[in-house]
Amino acid sequence: MEYDYVVVGAGTAGSVLAARLSEDPGASVLLLEAGGAGAPAWPRLLGTSRNWGERTAEQASTGTSIPLARGRGLGGSSALNAMVFTRGHRSSYDAWTAKGWGFDDLLPYLKRSERAPGRDARWRGQSGPLTVAPAAEPNPVLEACMEAAVEAGHRRADDISSGLEEGFGWPDLNIAGGRRQSAADAYLAPASGRGNLRVVTDAPVHRVLIERGRCAGVTYTAAGEQVTVRAAREVVLAAGAIGTPRLLLSSGIGPSEHLREMGVEVVRNLPGVGSNLQDHVMAGLVYAPARPIPTPRNNHGEALGLLRGPDARDEPDLQIIFVDVPSHSPALGGPRHGYTIRVSLMRPHSRGTVRLASASPTAPPVIDPGYYSDARDLNTMVAGLRAAREIGRARALDGWRGGEMLPGVEVRDRRALRAYLRAGLASYFHPAGTCAIGPVVDEELRVHGIEGLRVADASVMPSIVSGNTDATVYGIAERAAELITST
Ligand SMILES: Cc1cc2nc3c(=O)[nH]c(=O)nc-3n(C[C@H](O)[C@H](O)[C@H](O)COP(=O)(O)OP(=O)(O)OC[C@H]3O[C@@H](n4cnc5c(N)ncnc54)[C@H](O)[C@@H]3O)c2cc1C
Repeated sequence: MEYDYVVVGAGTAGSVLAARLSEDPGASVLLLEAGGAGAPAWPRLLGTSRNWGERTAEQASTGTSIPLARGRGLGGSSALNAMVFTRGHRSSYDAWTAKGWGFDDLLPYLKRSERAPGRDARWRGQSGPLTVAPAAEPNPVLEACMEAAVEAGHRRADDISSGLEEGFGWPDLNIAGGRRQSAADAYLAPASGRGNLRVVTDAPVHRVLIERGRCAGVTYTAAGEQVTVRAAREVVLAAGAIGTPRLLLSSGIGPSEHLREMGVEVVRNLPGVGSNLQDHVMAGLVYAPARPIPTPRNNHGEALGLLRGPDARDEPDLQIIFVDVPSHSPALGGPRHGYTIRVSLMRPHSRGTVRLASASPTAPPVIDPGYYSDARDLNTMVAGLRAAREIGRARALDGWRGGEMLPGVEVRDRRALRAYLRAGLASYFHPAGTCAIGPVVDEELRVHGIEGLRVADASVMPSIVSGNTDATVYGIAERAAELITST
């Protein structure tokens, strides 16, 4: 079997790539996905086979291991994510310093993915495949939170999803006509009739094949059979920030010392593979309600703000998102009803790794995000909790606030707040950076030293952006498709 392009992983990036590459009827495209197809639902999907369901390694800073969800199946993480569609602030992209990857460079590709009616067409796409819009009828408790943020002195943003503003606003959600729109819905479904695109599900890829320095294809299993497929032009890895480095490592591409230790033959010593793992940690203040909260109608997180902690230099580094249910680490016992002011560290200094547990290509990887391994991160989160509390006690919330249940008003000083952050360690599920532009791929996303092999997903971000990651991954994939077809 031979195709022009073999794309591995049908998540956010893989769906975009398969759809764009198959727009040329003369190019044959195979899209391989480890998981299946099926109806998604947030947040219940987290407990199903649509989630790889891994946990982090025990974190040195907390002594605990926490769940790290990632999507498995058509749409990947976009099929089980929380549907917040927002770019990072433009400063995040400009910090990448890679040629062709600044905010202004990426803007046309970010726009190409989206259809954001009512937003300013200079900055926002109007005709892309993915329909995005703010919550149509925001939950009144979240409207009160927004007023509280303004009362606490924060600026009101017109379009907080644009990447151009700081302050608080109503982000876009990838919900169209009341239904989640995943990358598979927006990109793959319209392309499904094309004769030159083949999508194979339940087909985990175990290895990329390298012959004389060139990527010749991949090996995967389907219905218990091992299958080898060849790529005439390129193999594109879009298995995500955990799946892509894991696949490269299993294929002998990565830090040679680690590969030898695992008994994997070294094909190419590339020390950056699986390093530089970054994620957004989160924590929050959970309030019991003074009166019943209207039944949530959207994604629970309809309003958010981007702000600067005390150590932020020239970019925002904290996000506060308002949630119309209690939302906290399962390690903390919170109230059954209520609302949450969640805080997340947007520009962490901590770095972690993805490593193999053994030479077996099916063994789950060892994921160590190294949360809070850099002390600055804990300090910024303490500042974030304090900013959240200022908002939480503003008059606009008087009618809703029954009492702060987590961590509780008595948890005030720096030491106590740090202890709370450690005890309630939780991920926003935004891993990135593990096959970064620079150490692992060049500015055209080609893996160093190997022909015919690219990476195009969340793993190529040199540093994580100051926003929920999905919108950025759409932009990366749009740009990757253009780089590939213009080669
Ligand atoms: C629970 C959750 C909530 C989130 N909420 C938000 C949110 O509200 N807003 C936001 O912007 N971002 C959110 N994110 C993050 C966002 O969805 C991801 O950053 C984005 O989808 C990553 O895209 P990707 O293409 O890099 O990887 P993915 O979308 O994860 O796709 C990778 C695909 O590759 C497949 N794969 C992996 N290994 C193999 C293999 N060996 N062979 C074949 N296939 C393989 C996987 O099964 C998966 O389908 C959330 C993520 C999760 C998990």
